[in-house]
Amino acid sequence: MASTPSPPMSVNPGRIRTLKEGSGKTGPVVYWMFRDQRLKDNWALIHAVHQANKSNVPVAIVFNLFNSFIGAKSRHFGFMLRGLRQLCHQLQHTLQIPFFLFQGEAEENVSKFVTECGASLLVTDMSPLRELKKCKAGICERVSHLVTIHEVDAHNVVPLWVASEKLEYSARTLRGKINKKLPEYLVEFPIIEPPTTKWVNAEDHTIDWDGIIAQVLRRGAEVPEVSWCEPGEIAAMEVLMGSKNGFLTKRLRSYSTDRNNPCKPTALSGLSPYLHFGQISAQRCALEARKLRASHPQAVDTFLEELIVRRELADNFCFYQPHYDSLKGAWEWARKTLLDHASDKREHVYTREQLEKAKTADPLWNASQLEMVHYGKMHGFMRMYWAKKILEWTKGPEEALEICIYLNDKYEMDGRDPSGYVGCMWSICGVHDQGWRERPIFGKIRYMNYAGCKRKFDVDKYIAYVNKLVGDLRKRKAENLLSEKEKVLRCSNPED
Ligand SMILES: Cc1cc2nc3c(=O)[nH]c(=O)nc-3n(C[C@H](O)[C@H](O)[C@H](O)COP(=O)(O)OP(=O)(O)OC[C@H]3O[C@@H](n4cnc5c(N)ncnc54)[C@H](O)[C@@H]3O)c2cc1C
Repeated sequence: MASTPSPPMSVNPGRIRTLKEGSGKTGPVVYWMFRDQRLKDNWALIHAVHQANKSNVPVAIVFNLFNSFIGAKSRHFGFMLRGLRQLCHQLQHTLQIPFFLFQGEAEENVSKFVTECGASLLVTDMSPLRELKKCKAGICERVSHLVTIHEVDAHNVVPLWVASEKLEYSARTLRGKINKKLPEYLVEFPIIEPPTTKWVNAEDHTIDWDGIIAQVLRRGAEVPEVSWCEPGEIAAMEVLMGSKNGFLTKRLRSYSTDRNNPCKPTALSGLSPYLHFGQISAQRCALEARKLRASHPQAVDTFLEELIVRRELADNFCFYQPHYDSLKGAWEWARKTLLDHASDKREHVYTREQLEKAKTADPLWNASQLEMVHYGKMHGFMRMYWAKKILEWTKGPEEALEICIYLNDKYEMDGRDPSGYVGCMWSICGVHDQGWRERPIFGKIRYMNYAGCKRKFDVDKYIAYVNKLVGDLRKRKAENLLSEKEKVLRCSNPED
């Protein structure tokens, strides 16, 4: 009988890139966490603790809360901070590693902390987005020549730079490269040993979580939090494999047959908010899904294709294509065809405000927009139709892409993610797709229309489902407002 390979003792060196080589002094290790906000199954944290224990030095985690981050609102900041609060509590009870939260500019805060504590090694997460690449470059310049900086890809199953050293053309060109590396990288995680050396004066830094959360909720109130998606690692694992309604435990069976039916949203995993904020590791999802391959081969293979190949293809695009969110980033054939058809006559031209308020002549499109605005997660199939219609109904491809990304980032729980930029670029600019029969406005970009949706699923049922969803959410909001008002009144008239 084949035995299960035991977990590796340390992080595969292929996961680590040295961004800056220091001159080898001994000092604490600092882990700047930003994309992989979890304690469990986190290669960056494993590496930081391992390095600290090797040199008998303490380790700390720092997190920088940006004042603004690519248009994130209450919905995103609230989910993230509530997850981090949970992480911080768990950390105190398990690994006893101190957690420092800073607000403002990461470049300044992280560099200052590294300098003040005399760290010799800074470990960071990997993100292909330009905002974070820029911060890291700034930190590399600001910290002393003595400090080493390691970037660990804890987000992808196969580290981005191992999977491919170049911009890939499509899933077809990346799939084989990833599959070849899976035996080496899709492995169990080692258990983190608590640090052998404790951080001095860690208790001096207390975090006013309630105050900070209240502040970000006030600032981003335009897009309120959603109640259906509970934040944190525990909730994420419950969505993956909980006994009540877990994806792998209860819903996997219908993934390959129903995942493109917007009337059956629970056929999808619902993992994207957790994956986006790093509250769950994609590798954990893949390891657990793979165990079920014998009983559900098709569903597991389809899920792994989305979770690994498609998701990691999006990271590949954003990492190697500096124009990942503009028409400049489209392949040459696509840019040409879009510009050839930019001035074609449109039946409708809507402004960003009209689109944002779901005021179009298409009830199906309006429903998907409302699903995103109020629920915070549009069905995956509808996202394609939604984006393609924006191309059809705006002045030209540049404006279409800008509006699409603006709305996606503002309202989707999983927005501001490489998969979001690539989803918009795929729909509007044909990225990772091929050319199709030429037609007005779209040129050779793949086309989708209402009649096609009608053939695929029950359009009226989806519209009715969203109307009910939005109606219930509005009702709950009104009830909450009323009870808040009553509370205020009771406080001002305590005798009543
Ligand atoms: C216009 C448009 C915008 C999109 N915006 C986002 C976004 O902002 N954030 C985001 O995470 N995804 C985005 N996607 C990709 C995809 O629609 C979502 O990942 C998916 O709907 C999330 O729901 P789920 O986790 O229940 O999906 P599942 O089908 O259960 O998929 C599991 C996981 O696989 C990955 N995945 C699935 N489909 C894709 C895909 N097409 N490309 C890359 N990864 C994929 C995701 O990480 C997802 O969580 C977008 C797609 C389009 C066409």
